[in-house]
Amino acid sequence: MNVVFLGTSGSMPTKRRSSSCVVVRLGRSLFMFDCGEGTQRQMVGAGVGFRRKMKIFLSHLHGDHVLGLPGLLQSMSLLGREKRLDIYGPAGTVDYVKAFSESLGGPAFPVIIHEIMEPGVVYGDDGLDVVAARSSHRVESWSYGLFEKPRPGRFHPEKARALGVPEGRLWHMLQHGEAVTVEGRVVEPAQVADPSRPGRRIVYSGDTRPYPGMVELARGADLLIHEATFSHELQERAAEDGHTTAREAAEVAREAGAKRLALVHISSRYYDPEVLLEEARQVFGDVFVAEDLMEIEVPLPR
Ligand SMILES: [Zn+2]
Ligand SMILES: [Zn+2]
Repeated sequence: MNVVFLGTSGSMPTKRRSSSCVVVRLGRSLFMFDCGEGTQRQMVGAGVGFRRKMKIFLSHLHGDHVLGLPGLLQSMSLLGREKRLDIYGPAGTVDYVKAFSESLGGPAFPVIIHEIMEPGVVYGDDGLDVVAARSSHRVESWSYGLFEKPRPGRFHPEKARALGVPEGRLWHMLQHGEAVTVEGRVVEPAQVADPSRPGRRIVYSGDTRPYPGMVELARGADLLIHEATFSHELQERAAEDGHTTAREAAEVAREAGAKRLALVHISSRYYDPEVLLEEARQVFGDVFVAEDLMEIEVPLPR
């Protein structure tokens, strides 16, 4: 699993930073969080494929988070994409996509839009869930958690044999956490396998003030990607605009017991983000300011 920061700027793109976009690559799938202007060029720069199996999660309908969508869909059409694309976002996402599709000529592949009505799991498959939490911004806005499901613990064939469980279907069931019955005796998974191992947890704040639900969502996250638009000197401004300061983001990470914190959505006023990094570091040690095209591995927890 790796995370690529395609755009780390707040509000306006700068020479050094493109508008908001983060991509999580897992196997052959791609999970994109926000799609600011410039996303497709950043995808080319980072070697992120346009034809991949992909889902897009929009935090809110502010331009710096969604203006990349028309261009991205157009390029996908030009490249002959046939695979469907699922887009998740706040109320209004359908109207937004419809409006530019009608003006520009709609995408030549199926686009399925899911407007989020309530917090909770918005997407799930065998391997992971994506959970949405209602954040605290000036418009309807969502934070997302990408949570891998626990992996089964190591299976011990010799223990299964010793308990008289024949190889085959019953082993498979035990490996997937189901108890089986052999000649009237129940054999529990714990008798033949180690405890299940937790999956990875990546959380993306979108634009928001600090809010209690964020701490819940980010609980034990391997990586918390949090907006830090301003330094704490501008705390009042942050509160007015519905944003978070670097210190506040670090406080969320600390309270949530996150393992690592990435600061994004950096205001154009901080050409050198050192001041943000320093104030965050005083609260939470394992923090970095994400830069455009930075790529980090999120290893499996041991
Ligand atoms: Zn923004
Ligand atoms: Zn915003």
